[in-house]
Amino acid sequence: MKPDIDKPYTRVVWQDSAVAAPVLPPLDRSLSVDLCVIGGGFLGLSTALHAAEAGLSVAVLEAGEIGGGASGRNGGQVIPGLKHDPDDLVRHYGETDGERLVAFAGSTADAVFDLIAKHGMDVAHRRDGWVQAAHKPSTFHVASARAEQWKRRGANVAVLDADEIRRLTGAGGYAGGWIDRRAGAVNPLSLARELARVAQEKGAMIATGTTVTELAEQGALWRLATDLGHHIQAKQVMIATNAFSDALLPGLDRSFVAVNSFQIATEPLTGNAAAHILPDGQVVSDTRRVLLYFRRTAEGRLMLGGRGPLGGRAARTPLDWRHVEASLAEVFPDLGPVAISYRWFGPVSVTPDHLPHLHMPAPGVAAAVGCQGRGVGLQTALGAAFGKYFASGDPKSLPFPVTKLRPIPFHGWRQIGVAAMTGWYRLIDAVA
Ligand SMILES: Cc1cc2nc3c(=O)[nH]c(=O)nc-3n(C[C@H](O)[C@H](O)[C@H](O)COP(=O)(O)OP(=O)(O)OC[C@H]3O[C@@H](n4cnc5c(N)ncnc54)[C@H](O)[C@@H]3O)c2cc1C
Repeated sequence: MKPDIDKPYTRVVWQDSAVAAPVLPPLDRSLSVDLCVIGGGFLGLSTALHAAEAGLSVAVLEAGEIGGGASGRNGGQVIPGLKHDPDDLVRHYGETDGERLVAFAGSTADAVFDLIAKHGMDVAHRRDGWVQAAHKPSTFHVASARAEQWKRRGANVAVLDADEIRRLTGAGGYAGGWIDRRAGAVNPLSLARELARVAQEKGAMIATGTTVTELAEQGALWRLATDLGHHIQAKQVMIATNAFSDALLPGLDRSFVAVNSFQIATEPLTGNAAAHILPDGQVVSDTRRVLLYFRRTAEGRLMLGGRGPLGGRAARTPLDWRHVEASLAEVFPDLGPVAISYRWFGPVSVTPDHLPHLHMPAPGVAAAVGCQGRGVGLQTALGAAFGKYFASGDPKSLPFPVTKLRPIPFHGWRQIGVAAMTGWYRLIDAVA
């Protein structure tokens, strides 16, 4: 499904600060490759880069533009770990597989910053950590237990009291929290574009403005048709369409719920606000179920994101951002009047168990969905793992078990229920 990155009220802040988009024309011929990747976000591009580095011939087909999906419109917070705590993962997957998965989850921010350094990518970034702030005293123990679990595994983390949180963030009303110094911030659209540039340098063919409309088995190979009338014959196929998945692989789009996340970016801060809000450059999210997340951009803007009122991709009005704008004033009571320069939103794929799901519905075809809003590090690292997998055929290259594709029962109702669920969670956040 083709995303719109530049509709009225939905201009993404990164559009005006990212490196130039690489020139990648639509596919104008039929071809034959080892691996065809569908989707030009972090997962598709990182898979392509690593598979090409490993010697495969690779084609990437992207319906819109590079990073036009979630990858070029997110908060750019590079946070290691999954939504589940390390000890929970070990309980769920057992000692050996669980600790292996925890090690992978703990390395996802490294994957991003190491790639930037290794390939000299032109991506504005800094690595000063992620603060998770407890929005009330009763969630402080959750944050400190999380820090303790990572510390036991050697991660550079620390518990913070309320005063330290206030000094680091400039935000009011938080009861404490923890800092994970493995984390950091990037300009995500630059990261997507630079992944494309490097993948191309490694030999991958990348076409934008090209939608894959059909995927069919052809003997031992796969045949993909595009909306422009050309075909690709591939030995292997990676479906990296995530929250923008459609009916290309039956059931994939019904195996998760797409939850919209809304963001705003202010004009560059000046004076007192510039000095006291996130002076050391950390990225922040809090412990609410309907979480708030914020950071500064390289230009000094304050960005804040959270859930909006609706699921779906219907036309937007500025009113849809009223919750995040109200949150900005609540979290930063001393901010004073400041212009909102950008408002935009995008879908996050959420699975019922809040874990990423890897599927291989037929030999040679793989898909992955469900990054739960943690995809900058996760999808980049997962792409490296998939690159190795496609080159070697070794399922041990993959950090998660491959599971059967299971559409969620009554998916349409679940999708409609997102709005109701969001309201319910807000209520729990306020009273629990
Ligand atoms: C508003 C917002 C804020 C977020 N903030 C953060 C954050 O701060 N930190 C973090 O870690 N994560 C964050 N996330 C999540 C993160 O952005 C995603 O997890 C990640 O970008 C997903 O990457 P991807 O490659 O899997 O999918 P995408 O980047 O969505 O790429 C999928 C691509 O597939 C293409 N496509 C779909 N169908 C077809 C087809 N048939 N043919 C060809 N192409 C097709 C789409 O055009 C799209 O470009 C946020 C997400 C949103 C929406």
